[in-house]
Amino acid sequence: MLALNEQSLKELKNTLEDMGQASYRSKQIFDFFHKEGKTNIKDCTTLPKDLREDLSKKDLCKIDIAHVFESKKDPTKKFLFRLEDGHLIEGVLMQNNYGFSQCISTQVGCRMGCRFCASTQGGLVRNLSPYEMLGQVYQASNRYGKIHSIILMGSGEPLDNLDNVLRFLNLLNAERGYHMSYRNMTLSTCGLVPGILDLAKQNRKVNLALSLHSPFQEVREKMMPIAKRYKLNEVFKALDEYTENLGRRVSYEYTLIDGVNNRDQDVVKLKELLGHRLHHLNLIPLNPIKEYGKNRPQRDKIQDFKKRCEDMGLNVTIRREQGGDIKASCGQLRQKFEEEERV
Ligand code: SAH
Repeated sequence: MLALNEQSLKELKNTLEDMGQASYRSKQIFDFFHKEGKTNIKDCTTLPKDLREDLSKKDLCKIDIAHVFESKKDPTKKFLFRLEDGHLIEGVLMQNNYGFSQCISTQVGCRMGCRFCASTQGGLVRNLSPYEMLGQVYQASNRYGKIHSIILMGSGEPLDNLDNVLRFLNLLNAERGYHMSYRNMTLSTCGLVPGILDLAKQNRKVNLALSLHSPFQEVREKMMPIAKRYKLNEVFKALDEYTENLGRRVSYEYTLIDGVNNRDQDVVKLKELLGHRLHHLNLIPLNPIKEYGKNRPQRDKIQDFKKRCEDMGLNVTIRREQGGDIKASCGQLRQKFEEEERV
């Protein structure tokens, strides 16, 4: 059974009818959850007291802010959210010229096993429910103001939790609720082909980002175990279908690791893979974790790699570093926080 605050307006209407209530109440309840971003139904004063009592006995999903870390260098904020079962997840709020952009987690932990990523070092703990994702947006929004866009680039693999992710995106898009446009939502994947194909069949024009990290199958496999299961040629076939069906350009994330993926042959191969496709290549200098033991290239080598890509005619940017002083990168904070709690 879905929690009350993760039901669509139509589903809420049915729930209310089953309770023998007038269906217009569903709109008041939906507004309370999704326009006002509140959860405690006892505070929904537009409803009669008896109904509030009855509803409070039903399932409601909650998520709280456990801690906010504010960067001293820029406006970036990092959240630790606490779930009802005590697990912690992370989120980052960045400010750019069009407003707030928030990085959302989709799972507690992750089972994809990318060698350089902190979120996956302890494996998957569990999927997040739709409201556990929505609540990240509402909580940040209640504290700091309207969120302009979201990127599903926190911990977890969104396509490994696709049903819940789709329900979350639908609710966030709801006209009566937060009403965020699909175009302001970016889903990032390490390349789960069946999920990409599922998305390509839907009519939601969300932005899709692929964590590419190397244009070579063998190198990619060493960095990302999942690459053995879904080979690059299959991944690109699925992405082409996405672009064809939805007319959306795909972004490619490329975590720069010195000596691993910033060689001359990488630029040539990137050109071969992306040159004829609608693309945007986003270079992310590696945030080193001790388990991986590799480093990012020096600053001038990063610039040089970008220039070589540009010279090849690629559409390339370097991700602006934000919140470096608050470990605002994938899984790093939760790991550190839990380590400290253990001491
Ligand atoms: N599972 C999804 C989304 C979460 S990761 C995916 O793989 O795309 C979001 C992005 O951060 C991915 O591109 C991921 O490879 C990258 N990333 C993870 N750890 C990183 C690190 N230590 N340094 C730089 N980028 C990292």
